[in-house]
Amino acid sequence: MTMDTKKTSASKITYSKGKISVPHNVLIPYIEGDGIGPDISKATLKVLNAAVEKAYKGEKNISWIEVLAGEKAFASTKEWLPKETLDTIREMKVAIKGPLTTPTGGGIRSLNVTLRQVFDLYACVRPVRYFEGVASPMKEPQKLNVVIFRENIEDVYSGIEFQEGTKEARSVIDYLRSLGHEIRYDSGIGIKPISEFRSKRLVKKAIEYAIKHGRKSVTLVHKGNIMKFTEGAFRQWGYELAKTEFPKETIFEDEVYSKYHGKTPSGQVQINDRIADNMFQQLITRPSEYSVIATTNLNGDYLSDACAAQVGGLGIAPGGNIGDEIAIFEATHGTAPKYANQDKVNPGSMILSGVMMLEYLGWDSAGKLVENAFETTIKQKRVTYDLERHMQGATLLKTSEFADAIIENMKT
Ligand code: NAP
Repeated sequence: MTMDTKKTSASKITYSKGKISVPHNVLIPYIEGDGIGPDISKATLKVLNAAVEKAYKGEKNISWIEVLAGEKAFASTKEWLPKETLDTIREMKVAIKGPLTTPTGGGIRSLNVTLRQVFDLYACVRPVRYFEGVASPMKEPQKLNVVIFRENIEDVYSGIEFQEGTKEARSVIDYLRSLGHEIRYDSGIGIKPISEFRSKRLVKKAIEYAIKHGRKSVTLVHKGNIMKFTEGAFRQWGYELAKTEFPKETIFEDEVYSKYHGKTPSGQVQINDRIADNMFQQLITRPSEYSVIATTNLNGDYLSDACAAQVGGLGIAPGGNIGDEIAIFEATHGTAPKYANQDKVNPGSMILSGVMMLEYLGWDSAGKLVENAFETTIKQKRVTYDLERHMQGATLLKTSEFADAIIENMKT
């Protein structure tokens, strides 16, 4: 663990009664990441520091603590995810990370999945918006501006599977046959648990977000027409939660049409639902009708990448894994090892994840500074190789130069 000791008065975030409290000089752990991780982490920290300095003129500050994970951790401790790293994140409550290699062989689980499960980071949050100038396959990519809340713990992520031909698969099949289900013995079996508790807390987070950010709707996306007691139940629990916990702040779509001619009364968030396959085409044909999406794990997995593709790709898609007490923000792409240490790749995904982190801390002015400067830099066509190759007349920048250009464009 390496600590930025410039400011001695730095202190921890605290949590009480469902809320975090952030000191002016806050300790935040970061995981550098493998492959391109060091390049993009360096760029990200530099941009975030500059934004905080510019926005608060020394009144606020982030004191970074490096915690080890992945290859760097293994090289020095022989552990991929040392206990000290977990303890520090648990204590500090908010962290940011670069991508980590999933070690192959030896039955080691994905470090990313482990982090989500250890800290019960049940909402995978992915804002997707367009930045002018980025090449997109859509005619009007700017019409898509959604925030996806994807359940992060259960559904297919629970990882309960039985391989075809094993004793376990056989006994599950025998049990299901005893209930009258015709299942072939040469089947592999996967279990898809979806609970009321976990569905409701995810939908609650999405609605809270919509209220806080003045978003117009929350759409529950499910495949309930086919899987009634999992996906269908998710939909039903979502509506129940809205009705019981946010009776004044939310209104259901049918009421909007029956009483208000299809126009949501101001100050209320419309709750509606769409079947997943329909939602994929709706997001292409009617993107501006959607705002916040709350969905189960597998639907969310597909939707997040499909939406990112619509606005120009995963290279600049940010993400956060958020629980009640702890949150980890991260680049959504992988370690791209062939570009490691070349100062070449786009740090955008991690920088925009940093913007999410600043907003989560309640440091919105600093977050806005970064987002606006990022937008300006792309409009100026000063970009890294991935965007440059699709942009006419662009200036090719290195990772570090792109970060400097963003800082240069920060206007208070
Ligand atoms: P990847 O690392 O995301 O790279 C795939 C391709 O995406 C790269 O070759 C590059 O495309 C492009 N790319 C990724 N990040 C970029 C960036 N910042 N700027 C510009 N282009 C970028 O996917 P992968 O090769 O499948 O996975 C490599 C490793 O990362 C694996 O060990 C995997 O387990 C891990 N991984 C980690 C996370 C995570 O930590 N959250 C997520 C996904 C994967 P071009 O070649 O076209 O330039």
